[in-house]
Amino acid sequence: MKTEGYKFTEKNVSSNKVYQKELVDLGARGVPTFLIGNEVIVGFDKNRIVNLIDYKIIKCPTCLKRMRIPKNKGKIKVTCKECNTKFIVKS
Ligand SMILES: [Zn+2]
Repeated sequence: MKTEGYKFTEKNVSSNKVYQKELVDLGARGVPTFLIGNEVIVGFDKNRIVNLIDYKIIKCPTCLKRMRIPKNKGKIKVTCKECNTKFIVKS
C-alpha cells in the first residue's frame, strides 16, 4: 500500500489490546485485515482493496510525482503541484 502511494492507518494488533478488540468487533479472524469505509477485507486482496478505495494514484507525466485523483469522475483536469504541468486524465 505504501509503495503504491495509498494513505492508510496501520494498527498493530499484536501489541495493542484496543486494536485487538476492534479486530474482533469487525468479525475478522486474521491479519492483515483492511477496513475501507464499511467493508472488511481479510487478507491482502489487492484488487478488492483498490476497487473499494474511492481515489486512484496517478503520476505526473513530467516529473512523475504521484498524486491522488477521485475515481469515476470521467475526464478531469489535473495540475501538478510540483511542476505545474496541466494534463487531463480519465478517472
Ligand atoms: Zn509534475
